[in-house]
Amino acid sequence: MQQRTVPQTTPQRFLAANNPMMPVHFFAPAALDARLAEFHAGFDGMVTYAVKANPDEAVIRRLCAGGIAGFDVASPGEITLIRRLCPRAALHYNNPVRSRDEIAFGIAAGVASWSVDDAGELAKLIAAGVANNEIAVRFKLPVGGAAYNFGAKFGAEEPDAVDLLQQVAAAGLTPALTFHVGTQCRDAQAYATYVRAAARIAQQAEVAIARLNVGGGFPSARDGAPVDMQPFFDAIDGAMDAFGQRPALVCEPGRGLVADSHAYGVQVKSLRAGRVYLNDGIYGGLSEFPSMVVPTFRVIAPDGTLRRGRADARVVFGPTCDSIDQLPDLLPLPADLAEGDWIVFAAMGAYLSGVTTRFNGYGDRMCVQVDHL
Ligand SMILES: *Cc1c(COP(=O)(O)O)cnc(C)c1O
Repeated sequence: MQQRTVPQTTPQRFLAANNPMMPVHFFAPAALDARLAEFHAGFDGMVTYAVKANPDEAVIRRLCAGGIAGFDVASPGEITLIRRLCPRAALHYNNPVRSRDEIAFGIAAGVASWSVDDAGELAKLIAAGVANNEIAVRFKLPVGGAAYNFGAKFGAEEPDAVDLLQQVAAAGLTPALTFHVGTQCRDAQAYATYVRAAARIAQQAEVAIARLNVGGGFPSARDGAPVDMQPFFDAIDGAMDAFGQRPALVCEPGRGLVADSHAYGVQVKSLRAGRVYLNDGIYGGLSEFPSMVVPTFRVIAPDGTLRRGRADARVVFGPTCDSIDQLPDLLPLPADLAEGDWIVFAAMGAYLSGVTTRFNGYGDRMCVQVDHL
């Protein structure tokens, strides 16, 4: 993968001047700084970052320089990355399923906090000797609001969470609670519902929790609506009144922190009647398209001008020889679309770089830093 730093430019100017031969991931560091500042100013607790959303070095280094307090890591690979790039940050190992080897790795790396959603996994942590550490019990509720449901894989039901929290306290570990509302959550009240459930669980367990980790799930502007985090912070803050004694708060946004500071440009390789072939698809940077709303986009001609033709719905294919390498939705592309044009999708900073495959020899992309997206 190539890295280019071209100051004083926009995606449009970069594409016109460089005619790149591969998809281009545009990163506006100032936009990331601004979003991090929004979290620091508005969220009344510790702001951490979920590494899996975007593990690019430029992103991690920028968040570290911006004073982020910790990282949600899910594997020895992510732990190693953060220890190298941001050595003093706290590590929260919040993948609730870990092998004994992974637990030992985390202990050796100085992990400060762990999540659990199952008694067997808690027993593994206790046996490994995570003395004095924080253990956050991850629970789930049947609430909507997000683009897809995270509770399908992880999270204890409320009565089991009560039981687990009591086991954590009885083992002399620092009790905490955590949840994940589901990614790209547009409903601030989903957080409030979860926070009140956390208060209920702590009360039923008769355990005073040290911290409540409200997880990630905060939205990006991929659906075209502007993002304001303040209603989410207000909903969380208001619901905290359900606790007699307020625990400290932690959040661990992934998408909400990094998506909107990036755009992703893909090029039209070939055009046939009603069909468009791109230089990237669902095996690469567009892997979220089958499960999420298509991000807003603009179309840029090779000379840098915007295509403004009337929109025609077209079938769009990716570059590999696999017939499922097709975008699930027709894309409304301008009627004057031409070979060599660029489609620049907005809000593409999350779940792109970490999930791009090398299938069929594709997967290269250029990373370009810009002033404005
Ligand atoms: C993926 C993940 C996140 C980040 O989710 P987003 O929807 O990208 O904000 C936060 N916490 C945990 C435990 C996760 O697995």
